[in-house]
Amino acid sequence: MNDMNTTIDLSALDHDRFKSWPNDQDYCVTCGLCSSDCPASGIDDFDPRKLVRMVGLGMKDEIIETRWSWVCTLCGKCQNVCPMGVQIPSMVRQIRSMRDRDATPGILHKGLETAIQSGNNLGLPREDFIFILEDVAEEIAEEPGFEGFKVPIDKQGAGLLTTIHNKLVNTHTEDLKHWWKIFHAAGEDWTVSSINWEGTNWGYFTGDDERMKIMTERIVEQMDRLEVKNLLWPE
Ligand code: SF4
Ligand code: SF4
Repeated sequence: MNDMNTTIDLSALDHDRFKSWPNDQDYCVTCGLCSSDCPASGIDDFDPRKLVRMVGLGMKDEIIETRWSWVCTLCGKCQNVCPMGVQIPSMVRQIRSMRDRDATPGILHKGLETAIQSGNNLGLPREDFIFILEDVAEEIAEEPGFEGFKVPIDKQGAGLLTTIHNKLVNTHTEDLKHWWKIFHAAGEDWTVSSINWEGTNWGYFTGDDERMKIMTERIVEQMDRLEVKNLLWPE
């Protein structure tokens, strides 16, 4: 597919195959603005303009097989510059959803399976999660101006529930401090749930709408459980 010398028999393709997709791919005028603006252009020969054309031509097997839809970061820059309003990120998610779930790239597949089973992509037990949060809070409390700081876990009726990206309790705990210091300085009434705290929804990234919904509903359940009306979902 990436071989520029490959000859495609257009008459053998079903051009109407993806007509029902709501991404306006058939309006593409092949201007190339998306390719110029895309931060992933060139990785594994990825070219969003070509991907749009492949969808327009109905090249189903090729678009499922290619790594291109997984190279895309879903950042949306292409859509921002496209003069025809082609919704490439949405199109990419639909392409991802056509892959067999077992054939989604390893880290995403494993992370999603773990999240569905345990509530977070790391499989971190609740007590370990609480231990990490409290340890970070103790470090903050040692800093001038933050004496007595505590992390309000499972605070009933707080003004704001924030989700947590799994890397913040794994390799980037320093970043937690930035968030929490801002909350503290702003006098925010906030909380974090001790269960289903994961903000990263790999159901969304992998085009798995069913599991995306499960993970989203889990967050809403925590809002209901803690009677919190506002959500900060920094993903
Ligand atoms: S920017 Fe839009 S119209 Fe231009 S090539 Fe990309 S998808 Fe097609
Ligand atoms: S959404 Fe994907 S295709 Fe569009 S600019 Fe970002 S990485 Fe490129």
